[in-house]
This record gives sequence, structure tokens and C-alpha cells, in this order.
Amino acid sequence: MAIESRRSFLAAGGSALAGGFGLPHLSAAIQNTVSPYHRPKLKITDVRTAMVAVHGPQAHVRVYTDQGLIGQGESTDAAVGTPALLRSFRPRLLGKDPLNVDAIWEELRRGGIFAGAQGGQYITALSGLEMALWDVAGKALGLPIYQLMGGKFRDRVRIYCDTDMKDNMGAEAERKVAWVEEVGFTAAKIDIDDAGDPARFDAVNRTASNGEIARMIREVRHIREKLPSAIDLAVDMHGFYDAPTGKRVAQEMEGFHLLWLEEPVPPENIDAMAEIRRSSKTPICCGENLFLRWGFRELLEKRAVDIIMPDIQKAGGLSESRKIANLAEAYYIPFAPHCVVSPVGTMASAHVCASVPNFLVCEWHWINHPDLWKNWVREGEIIEKGFISIPDRPGIGVEMNDEAARHAQIPGTPWFAPGEGA
Ligand code: MG
Repeated sequence: MAIESRRSFLAAGGSALAGGFGLPHLSAAIQNTVSPYHRPKLKITDVRTAMVAVHGPQAHVRVYTDQGLIGQGESTDAAVGTPALLRSFRPRLLGKDPLNVDAIWEELRRGGIFAGAQGGQYITALSGLEMALWDVAGKALGLPIYQLMGGKFRDRVRIYCDTDMKDNMGAEAERKVAWVEEVGFTAAKIDIDDAGDPARFDAVNRTASNGEIARMIREVRHIREKLPSAIDLAVDMHGFYDAPTGKRVAQEMEGFHLLWLEEPVPPENIDAMAEIRRSSKTPICCGENLFLRWGFRELLEKRAVDIIMPDIQKAGGLSESRKIANLAEAYYIPFAPHCVVSPVGTMASAHVCASVPNFLVCEWHWINHPDLWKNWVREGEIIEKGFISIPDRPGIGVEMNDEAARHAQIPGTPWFAPGEGA
């Protein structure tokens, strides 16, 4: 239609106007103003950060452009270095086209090979930046991020509630389990590692005593009986134990039909994780402390887990996490991302979850910060009956409410202060 309109316009008025303006110039002017294929041209003008403390120190990132569009990102868990790292990335970002998301990401990753770009703080900082670039790209093109990632497989993304409890047996458990059911979550998670367990004989070694294992079983049984059977239960051990303990607990959990048992051992030794997985029918999940596609390659090749859980705001960002999910799909492994970030990062994660076929469930970890959660973005509550509906607004689709979010600002740290020369 647009091409036809242009032709008609030229046929009707082109010859009459040609004398005054010259046809080539007129044609170029029309191309520039009415072509539906005009790609936005933007330049990055600044990158700014703010630090908050909710699930430990977390970094928020803003990418500014010469056309007034601002993208927002978030990095977590290994995020204390994000402001300094982004300052160091800044000279390589200014003037760049923010729509070349993967190319910018790859240039910074390759440029940091000798500076720790294999994981940790470096990749976490890059994750926050990459998310902000996707937000800019979506806003510039007028499309939600899921659309830029190939479209969505689902309209709603299933969320589970991490109950974040100090005590799985007392009043807190009673209250939280009832709340999980009442608000409509379809899955929940509890932690069973406890460094302060009185049945622990040694504060340093990673072997759980019979008393500790009995306590773990008691807690899981208690919560499993309290929760309706339709609500799935996942259990986290935070990589706190050794292989014999991991194996025993995985076997003891079989009767509870868990959604998964998470990090029974630390994730660095893939063979040990694989040994636990083979020893039990309990599904094993791991990945929140792994980075990039390369961090997940061996885990998948060795069939060391049943489910992977990359942290999208830490493992490399939206695009990288989608690639990790695609890699897992080749092994028929579901993708259940770790997620402890604000509604901004959680919504960005939801776009990734919507865009991969093997998505299982995504974490929510703000049960102890309900007011902060509800007020963090201008759009208000984003979870409804345990699901997030993916918005069609451009970019991530939610905007931070600075006034509310600043309640979590780490004292003495800047709040999106301009970089030098900005
Ligand atoms: Mg965990």
C-alpha cells in the first residue's frame, strides 16, 4: 500500500513539481519521510547506574540515546561491580547504535577475555547493560521485546513463589503457605539448607548428619502436606552439601514428587552433579551460578540435570539466556530461570520465557518486600494469580517508579548520575 501510494503521488504530481525541486531530490525526501522501511538511527549518549539493596546489592542500568529514548536494565547477585564495570565500558559504548544489541555485547565480551569475561561480575554487568539495550531497541521500533526475539509461544508466563522462610515449620510457614494458595500460585519453593542446624557437628564440612537429614525430610513433608497437591513444590539446598549428602537427600525426596531439588552440591563439578542425578528419581536443577552458553554446555552434554535455571540478569542477559534455553531444548531439558530482580527485570525475563518453547516456570522472590514490589513500577502489580501476562507495550513494557524504588537505594551511592561529558 505504501509503495503504491508513493507511486501514485509521483505519477500525479511528480512532473509538475519536477521543475521547482528536481525529481531526484523530491524522491529522496519522500523516501526519507514516508518509507515504512526506515530504520531508526540512534546513538548511545550515556550509561548510568543506581545501586539498590533488596536481594543483596542489585544494580539498575540506564542507557541514554541522542533521541531521548532511555532503556533500563538490571543486574543481580554478582552486581556490586556493575557501576565500575559500566564506567569502564562507557568509552566503547558512546556513539554506538544501541539497536546492534548482540554486536555490542559480543564486542565487550571478547574485549574482556583477560578481564574476567568468562563469568562473575563482568558478565553480570554486561547482562544489565544488554537488557537496557533491548529496552531501547523495543522502544525505538515500537515493539515488545518478545516480538524482537521471534514472537511468543504463550501469552502468560508461569511464576513460582520462593517463600524465603527462616523457619519451614512455624507460624511464618503457616502464613506464607496459606498466602501462596490464596493468591493463586501454582508452584512454590522452600530452602532446606541450614548452617545453624543444632544437629550439625561441624561448621565447615559439607556432610549433613542423620539429624540434619531427618530435619530436612520433616520440613519438606510438613510443607508438602500443607500445600494442595496441585501446587508444585521445589526444594533448594544452595550447593551447601557434599556428594554423599546430595545423593541421600535426593533419594529421601523421591516420595514427595518434587518439581525439583536444587543444587544439592555446588555447581562447579558437573560430574558430581551428574552422579547425584543418576542416583535418584528426584529431578535435579541447577544453573543460577553458571554463566553464558559455555557454562551450560557441559551440564547439558553430561545430562547432569533435569532442569536448568540460568539467572537472566546474571548469566549474560536476555539474548544469551534465550540461546541457553535453545541449547537446553536440544537435550529436551526445560528452562526455569532463577529470578530475584525487581518487576523491571522480572518483566524482561518474562519476555524471554514467552519466546522459548521449553519454558517451565520462572522464580519470584519478593515475598518479604510486598510494598516495594507493588510500587516499584508505574504499572503496579505485574503478577496475577501466579502468572505474568506479557504486555504489548514497546520494550520491556514497564517503567520504574523512581520515588518508590529509591526506598531501596544503597545509602551514599549515586542515583543514575550522568557520566563525565554527558
Ligand atoms: Mg537457588
